[in-house]
Amino acid sequence: MALRVALVASEAAPFAKTGGLADMVGSLAVALARQGLEVTLVLPAYAGVLRRADVVGAGMGFNVPAIDGIERTEVLESVLGEDARAYFVRTDRFFDRPGLYGQGGADYQDNADRFAYFARAALALLARLGPYDVLHGHDWQAGLAIAYLRLQPDRYPALASTRTLFTVHNVGYQGLFDAGVFPRLQVDDAHYWSNFEFYGNISYLKAGLSLAERLTTVSPSYAEEIMTPEQGFGLHGVFKERAGDLVGIMNGADYAVWDPSVDPFIARQYSPVAPEGKRDCKRDLQRRLELPPSDAPLAGMVARLVDQKGLDILVGALDALLSRDLQLAVLGTGNPYHEQALRECGQLHPDRMAVRIGFDEELAHAIEAGSDLFLMPSRYEPSGLNQLYSLRYGTIPVVRATGGLKDSVLPFDEATGGGTGFLFEDYESAALVQAVDRALDCHGRPAAWRRLVANAMAQDFSMERTAAEYAELYAKLVDRDD
Ligand code: ADP
Repeated sequence: MALRVALVASEAAPFAKTGGLADMVGSLAVALARQGLEVTLVLPAYAGVLRRADVVGAGMGFNVPAIDGIERTEVLESVLGEDARAYFVRTDRFFDRPGLYGQGGADYQDNADRFAYFARAALALLARLGPYDVLHGHDWQAGLAIAYLRLQPDRYPALASTRTLFTVHNVGYQGLFDAGVFPRLQVDDAHYWSNFEFYGNISYLKAGLSLAERLTTVSPSYAEEIMTPEQGFGLHGVFKERAGDLVGIMNGADYAVWDPSVDPFIARQYSPVAPEGKRDCKRDLQRRLELPPSDAPLAGMVARLVDQKGLDILVGALDALLSRDLQLAVLGTGNPYHEQALRECGQLHPDRMAVRIGFDEELAHAIEAGSDLFLMPSRYEPSGLNQLYSLRYGTIPVVRATGGLKDSVLPFDEATGGGTGFLFEDYESAALVQAVDRALDCHGRPAAWRRLVANAMAQDFSMERTAAEYAELYAKLVDRDD
């Protein structure tokens, strides 16, 4: 019999997305279904979801105990890929808003209530659709779904034999709330210290981490890094304690969406055997961004503009980078301070640097296809997806050697002709500039560059592989007799 797995997450492409979490969850659901598992995905019914033509009422509704009384919940549904089922729990007072987690750089004040409700509603729905073999929660927004199922199993008898797996996509986001929220969660006080308390606050991430039967994170290196004080964001002790239950599984890319031979968003499709189209994509990108149609190497970057992504060392490197024969294209949104710094630099150098502040899926594809280099100077990077896309698009990643970047980009070795990109260790502007210089040097030697691009495009980081690893983990979890 096919394993039945329920994915609970706060975002999944194509329904709701702020970052890599959405890409991963959406493509994992599709890939698992393709491998024969029965997949149910549960998401909140955000404003953007309500507007989609492919989302319809499921003819199901129920009451959910929420923070201040009973919350009426309607259920919407859709299909993801061929046959993964997506369900959306709808309570407009929590989710019919412009943002997923906040607006204008500020979190919504009631996120604790919103995602406690989401957890309850998701479990109530799954109990009606169940039984399930595995509940697979993602990040802090799903932490309480794991917690409620483990701590209050009597409420969900249909899920009595459901095993729990929790994936941490980024330990930097912990779902931290004032400890005064705890009584509203309606969880027995006995669990406060061991499962919720975090330096005087409560953490929904800790709830998921401490209560799920198994844990994963999104690359092998990151699984090691989060056990250290530098990268564990205060949770390294919890990770160490659970080391035996924790594995790092490298994320994969959805090549149905991110592949230059099928990408509908790019000016001209191309592939390893017919690479000519990439030049047209570069010209198209320059046109879109009002950069001169130069043959100078073009370095792209698409990211949430937050400290994690290395914005401070990037901004510190801009003068040096722009003194090279190089064009820069940056797309992102996030911290207003970083947005401003980039914008100002773009205004000073309109012929060399284009900055677009905003979320623009189509432009993200155009940057992947039209750039020669892709910059990811991240302070830390649990998995990173853009470098996987870059490899596929023959856009050479220049990355800091951390987390999933280290696990997926191989240093180019001039002597053997092996490798797929350029890495640097120190979190410093000068180290980034040096790595870009190495890339520019290589770009100046066409034979070496062609080899590098061919290596990059030949890599396989497909979500199929990632999904197969998760499927194996689910099977092991279900077979466990403890
Ligand atoms: P993270 O999950 O930390 O944001 P990843 O590299 O794993 O970083 O994934 C980022 C995903 O979000 C990619 O698909 C990237 O193209 C997309 N993305 C980020 N910012 C933007 C933006 N401003 N416009 C369009 N896509 C974006």
